[in-house]
Amino acid sequence: MHIAVPKEIKNHEYRVALTPSGARELVGRGHRVTIQAGAGDGAGFADSAFETAGAWIERDVAALWHEAELILKVKEPQREEVACLSAGQTLFTYLHLAAEENLTQGLMESGATCIAYETITDRQGGLPLLAPMSTVAGRMAVQAGAHSLEKAQGGAGILMPGVPGVAPARVAVIGGGVVGENAARMALGLGAEVTVLDRSIARLEQLDDRYQGRMKTLYSTADALEQVVRESDLVIGAVLVPGAAAPKLITREMLADMKPGSVLVDVAIDQGGCFATSRATTHAEPTYLVDGVVHYCVANMPGAVARTSTQALTNATLPYIISLSDKGWRQALADDPHFLAGLNVHDGRITHAAVAEAFGLRG
Ligand code: NAD
Repeated sequence: MHIAVPKEIKNHEYRVALTPSGARELVGRGHRVTIQAGAGDGAGFADSAFETAGAWIERDVAALWHEAELILKVKEPQREEVACLSAGQTLFTYLHLAAEENLTQGLMESGATCIAYETITDRQGGLPLLAPMSTVAGRMAVQAGAHSLEKAQGGAGILMPGVPGVAPARVAVIGGGVVGENAARMALGLGAEVTVLDRSIARLEQLDDRYQGRMKTLYSTADALEQVVRESDLVIGAVLVPGAAAPKLITREMLADMKPGSVLVDVAIDQGGCFATSRATTHAEPTYLVDGVVHYCVANMPGAVARTSTQALTNATLPYIISLSDKGWRQALADDPHFLAGLNVHDGRITHAAVAEAFGLRG
């Protein structure tokens, strides 16, 4: 199969969809892998490393898209990329369509088969291609939050671990999944006082057991949220309703009760955000203030640690890419219902129920 890997063009996105090691695996199976010139530069993978792996380097972007049967990307296609897609091509990438009506419309009009990393499931009920980036984002959320608590960033001037004789920061993590657990673990590691809220009792039990009571767990109700938001210095939003827009859990009114200089990090911003006052920001300008509360809402957090993220992403996607390129998309998806859950758009139609529901359609 002819597989193409374009250079990512979203603001401050430095990851690439395939490492040279991944390319070597595919070339070794008889596939032709074409990488856009410079696509790996931001993640520290030079064109020469891809060439050594047996891949071709293409400078002509239009030719790269035009000739491909399977296109591998990291972020959702930007407008000019959607224009390059056509029927008969398969796109495999993060899409996050529930919050992106224009993009969804564009993909439907392209006629291409679009498989989203983030809605592929596994036997344990997890999301195996969201998990590696969620791990990165969860760990980064605490770095970003700690930095935002500094005075120069608009924060209250609080050092996360405190010092002997001075209390540490209070951190609330809303949603105790992959992002939430990684964030909570990092915050604990920095010496903060951590509370995790979730709607799943089973998940709260797991966390309580795993961390032996070192983090507090709370069932996520409006009352509980109001209480922790009032008391916290840093609130990390990490909820997910798979394939759907994030629920707005922190309202504008609740913000008024927060301490001045406290910080909200909305990791769920790529699903529309779970704070009413969130709007997506970029690494160039990651934060803004609302009512004296610092908001950090970068939609592609793992892009800032592109090398770690690219390696973690390829580790997770490679088995699926091999299946798609060895068998073709129809057979690959027919053989694995969990992989089939990744199919979001095909032949002009939305094929994922939660995405369809987000736009008031039936899947
Ligand atoms: P996950 O499924 O592992 O965890 C989500 C958790 O949210 C679950 O435990 C679920 O029970 C909980 N939840 C659902 N509704 C809730 C509610 N009302 N109150 C409290 N908890 C609730 O998902 P994840 O992998 O941890 O991802 C979390 C979010 O982070 C997603 O929106 C994902 O798209 C996003 N994400 C963003 C970035 C970024 O760069 N901004 C990177 C990776 C992931």
